[in-house]
Amino acid sequence: MQITTTKIIRSARKTVVIEITPDGCIIIRAPKRLSMKAIEELVHGKDKWIRDKLQEIQRQQKLFQPLRFETGDKLWFLGEKYTFTVTDGSGMIYLQGDKHYFPREQLERGTEQLSRWYKKEVERILLARTEYFSGLTGIKYNSVKITSARKRWGSCSSKGVLSFSWRLLQAPLQVIDYVVVHELLHIEHMNHSRQFWARVEEILPDYREKREWLRQNRWLLMFLN
Ligand SMILES: [Zn+2]
Repeated sequence: MQITTTKIIRSARKTVVIEITPDGCIIIRAPKRLSMKAIEELVHGKDKWIRDKLQEIQRQQKLFQPLRFETGDKLWFLGEKYTFTVTDGSGMIYLQGDKHYFPREQLERGTEQLSRWYKKEVERILLARTEYFSGLTGIKYNSVKITSARKRWGSCSSKGVLSFSWRLLQAPLQVIDYVVVHELLHIEHMNHSRQFWARVEEILPDYREKREWLRQNRWLLMFLN
């Protein structure tokens, strides 16, 4: 795999951190005065880790197949795989069995219509899940916003506004729950401290699996690009 860029960012930090972005760029965060030789050595020592990460990104890029809006295409809804099926029937988009029916007359504006369908579904599900976990934890939020984000599944603003990408609806419900709990808890902890993760674990003891699922399936964020 080709490494696109390696960027070194120097700052007042004390340690070196190597970061791989989802599109395969390597970013090295280093202290201001650390020599290039020392950085090179550190990166060299992390060689295997970097290679594994890049391979993982490559694997995910292979999994991603853009929707061509043709019968036989695959798409995901709540963790289940459906076969995209073009119909001549009524103007409705709907799921039945393992098929995702889509009217021919809407094909011209397919991306727009399909993302609108997902957004409508996501509102119903995400509002209910957020409300549920808010009641469970006693954490009050301001509002829920549905976005088309492609870089992240969810976020939380300092004003208590929770945002979720409608693309999250491709994930299983338990994974959606993890993202909801994660963002909701950010109202209490605006960081990823040990206390934050302990609180996540209290509510969802198997959250690590869900977090891993999201890592493994980041390519779903590219859906309907
Ligand atoms: Zn977070």
